[in-house]
Amino acid sequence: MRFSDIIGNADVAKTLVSMADSGRVAHAMLMYENEGCGALALALAYVQYLNCSNPHDGDSCGECPSCRQMAKLIHPDVHYVFPVNKGPKTSDDKPTSESYMKYWRELAIANPYFVEADLQRAIGIESKNGLIAVAEARNIISKLSLTAVADGYKAVIFYLPEKMNQETANRLLKMVEEPPVQTLFIFITHAPEKVLQTIFSRCQSIRVLPLTKEEAEQVKALNPFDDSEEYNVFMDMFSDLMNALVSRDLMGALECGESMAALESREKQKAFCTFAGECIRKIFMFQQNLPQIAGVSEQEQEFYVNMAGRCGRKFCSRSMADVEKVVAMIDRNVSSKILFTDLVNRMFLNI
Ligand SMILES: [Zn+2]
Repeated sequence: MRFSDIIGNADVAKTLVSMADSGRVAHAMLMYENEGCGALALALAYVQYLNCSNPHDGDSCGECPSCRQMAKLIHPDVHYVFPVNKGPKTSDDKPTSESYMKYWRELAIANPYFVEADLQRAIGIESKNGLIAVAEARNIISKLSLTAVADGYKAVIFYLPEKMNQETANRLLKMVEEPPVQTLFIFITHAPEKVLQTIFSRCQSIRVLPLTKEEAEQVKALNPFDDSEEYNVFMDMFSDLMNALVSRDLMGALECGESMAALESREKQKAFCTFAGECIRKIFMFQQNLPQIAGVSEQEQEFYVNMAGRCGRKFCSRSMADVEKVVAMIDRNVSSKILFTDLVNRMFLNI
C-alpha cells in the first residue's frame, strides 16, 4: 500500500511521512478511527515507506523487494495481531492471529478499509467475540526477539488492542515500553477509551478522521459487503428508540425493543447491538465535550448534540454495558424478545 493509494486523511499521511523523514519514528503509536476510515491502510503505507529501499516524493516506490512483500502482506519483519476465537477455519484449539493469517491477508489485500464484522466473517467467527489472548503476546515477543530479516524496521500492526485482556497487556508492556531497536508497534483502535491505560499512555496517538461522503463512496466500492442499507435501517431503529426514551414514552420504547427482537437472525441482532453501542459511545463523547473525536458526520451532528443534552450523566456508561451483556446473552439462546424488552426497560430507567 502506497500513500498515493490511500483514500482520505491526507493530513495524517503527511504527518506520517514527515515523522519518517525526520527520523522521529514513535516506537508505539495508537491510531484511532471510526471503523473503516483507513487506519490500517495508513499503517501499512507508513511501514512500507519506512522499509522501502527507494522512497521518493514522500512515498514508497512500490517496486523494491520490500514494497512487493508489503503489498502481499508477507514482509518477514512485519507482524499482524487481531482478535480471534475458535472456529471452523482452524483446527487450533487455542488459535492466535497466526492461525488465520491467510484469511487476514486475503481480506486486507482486497480491502484494507474492512470493518470488524468483515474480519469476523473472513475468519469464520461471526457468532463469537474476537479476543486477543496471552498466547498472542508470547508470539509477538518471540518474533521481535529475533534479528530482523531485512535491515529496515520490525513492526507489529496490532488491530483492536481494546480486545486484549489485562494479562496480555501485562506481557506486552515491557516490549512496548522498551522495544528492541528499529521496532515499532502500531495499535489501531475503534474505542480508545477501552484500551488499557498502561498501553494507551505509552503511545503517541493519531486521530484518523471520518471520511467525507465522496471518500466513503470510494471505499464502499472496494467492499464486497454492502452495509449501507443495513446502516440506514439500524440508524432509524436507534434514533426511534432514543427519541422514545428521552420523551419518556415507555410504550414507544418497548415497540422499538420488539422490532429489534424481530430482526431476522441472531447475527443481525448482535450487529444491531454493536451498532447501538457505538452510537451510545458517540453520545458519551459529546457529553464529555469531545465531539471532535466522536467521528460524527455533519448530517448526524444535530441528533447527537440533542441526545447528549437530554440523556442523564450515567446513561451512556450503563447502557453501553447493558448492550454488551445482551450481545453475550444472544449467544446463549435466551429469547430475544425477553432480552430486548429488558434492555429497553433498563435504558428507560437510566435515561
Ligand atoms: Zn520500495
